[in-house]
Amino acid sequence: MSDTRERDIHTWGNWGQGPSFWRRVAKADQRLLLLDYDGTLAPFTPERDRAFPYPEVPELLRALQQAGRTRVVLVSGRESSVVARLLGLDPPPEIWGCHGGEHLAPDGTLTPVSLSDTQRDGLRQAAALADEAGAGTNLEYKPGCVALHWRGAQEAGLRTTANMLHENWQKLSQTFALALHPFDGGLELRAAHLSKAHAVKTLVAEVPAATSAAAYLGDDRTDEDGFAALGECGLSVLVRKQWRPTLASLWLVPPEELLQFLRRWLQAARHGDDETI
Ligand SMILES: [Mg+2]
Repeated sequence: MSDTRERDIHTWGNWGQGPSFWRRVAKADQRLLLLDYDGTLAPFTPERDRAFPYPEVPELLRALQQAGRTRVVLVSGRESSVVARLLGLDPPPEIWGCHGGEHLAPDGTLTPVSLSDTQRDGLRQAAALADEAGAGTNLEYKPGCVALHWRGAQEAGLRTTANMLHENWQKLSQTFALALHPFDGGLELRAAHLSKAHAVKTLVAEVPAATSAAAYLGDDRTDEDGFAALGECGLSVLVRKQWRPTLASLWLVPPEELLQFLRRWLQAARHGDDETI
């Protein structure tokens, strides 16, 4: 994970650079709105297959796409197809799934995760270790990743199992070109080349820096890779109920401040020529 800092972060109510940012969004030839899903657009729930977005989010994203010149892109650790189902937009927006390893284009074209045989072997061994430890029901399988979830889990021994797996998965990571990533409520082992930074760098390179506006909104430690990749090319936004050290320069408390941010972006997109914005 990237280094984080504890200074220079602004809240929604104390964001001095807000007016100049919204002017930039209003006047931009192209706008890039990059959004993590879980914890950012949708509240956490122990039932991961029912993590639906906050009310009003799908309508706002659809309106942003229809307003034109805003490329709405989801960047998630989940598979693209799962994000598309949970978000509920038809057609779905562009989605980079599996931490930037998988790409679902707006026309429905899916580019899958690319893995070496070595990485596949390592992930199989990691899953087998979790099964042997009795944690199989808490395991999530995704292309290029296995993840152990303990958010909402009732088993008292699961954290002990997780600590043991942490040690064993760490050893596997060194042999099989994998990387271990703790996240809020779990632990993930994934192919070392998979990172949200890849998606962000690819997207930023596709728009002209001088005449575009970009923002990345995320909540978790994996989003710090996205914040770092965006750098000075756009606005990094931490969306989280509780503040934590981060590279982001703006902190929004969901859902209300997130919705205000999206509404404000929509206003700027719709009235781009209005000098009062
Ligand atoms: Mg998240």
